[in-house]
Amino acid sequence: VPELPEVETVRVDLAATLTGRRIDSVAATGERTLRRHRRPAEFVERVAGRRLVEVDRRGKYLILRLDPVDAVVVHLGMSGQLRLAEPGSPTVSHTHVVWALEGGLELRFIDPRTFGEVFASLGPGRDRLPVEIDHLGPDALGADRATLAGVVGRRRTRLKPLLLDQRAIAGIGNIYADEILWSARLHPDRPAGGLSPRELTRLADACAEVLAAAVAARGSSLPDLQYRDVWGGLGGYQAFHRAYGREAQPCARCGRPIRRRADAGRSTYFCASCQPRRTSRPRSASGGGGAH
Ligand SMILES: [Zn+2]
Repeated sequence: VPELPEVETVRVDLAATLTGRRIDSVAATGERTLRRHRRPAEFVERVAGRRLVEVDRRGKYLILRLDPVDAVVVHLGMSGQLRLAEPGSPTVSHTHVVWALEGGLELRFIDPRTFGEVFASLGPGRDRLPVEIDHLGPDALGADRATLAGVVGRRRTRLKPLLLDQRAIAGIGNIYADEILWSARLHPDRPAGGLSPRELTRLADACAEVLAAAVAARGSSLPDLQYRDVWGGLGGYQAFHRAYGREAQPCARCGRPIRRRADAGRSTYFCASCQPRRTSRPRSASGGGGAH
């Protein structure tokens, strides 16, 4: 399932390739993919002939800005891929939208499970979020300690669901939530508002470090629903996962087995030893009640 690092990898490659190109024509067949439009032809009418001026992103949403003010918004959902291809090269099944670009290149949206979506947004302007996605919280990439302090606030929400809440902070999904919390040594069930200043710093540092490293590795490709970049390449960050998918394997920090727990239809991976549920206090102050 593509999360921020995978979508950012796609964004960077699309920006390098598409910026300044005109969309000569659009073939749109995916009614479910284009479900925000009354019919696929409406999307085609709004986009064909327009020039791409910038490729932007907020969280897991790509924003392909069109000259002068409109935008195409793409969400990859569970299994969506954007691929660049030579015109006339074979298309795979589940190809729902094809943009033919000036200079002879095609951008294709492929999505077997059709949880992803594509739509044209009218008039956000160059620096604004399209209205359809203006509920998204601050982007997790580059979120500093002050931003995370605002996200955490005094909320009683547990840390993991808060990191997954796109209205609170945008871009983190199940893989990177587990990796960030492992790196920050914070239990996923800790109430967000109860973090100490030092723990908040650890959370901000972990968020920055994990996401930057994952972007540098071009994201994570897992065996199921395999993420691929715009050229069909795989990401490399799965080799650096320390919690996600590592049930019963030794924690890279303390050597005890990583635990897996099922919640709400997804798995949470963590180290119960170095991500304690309770805040550890200095031994001298707690009369021996500190972490073992
Ligand atoms: Zn550990």
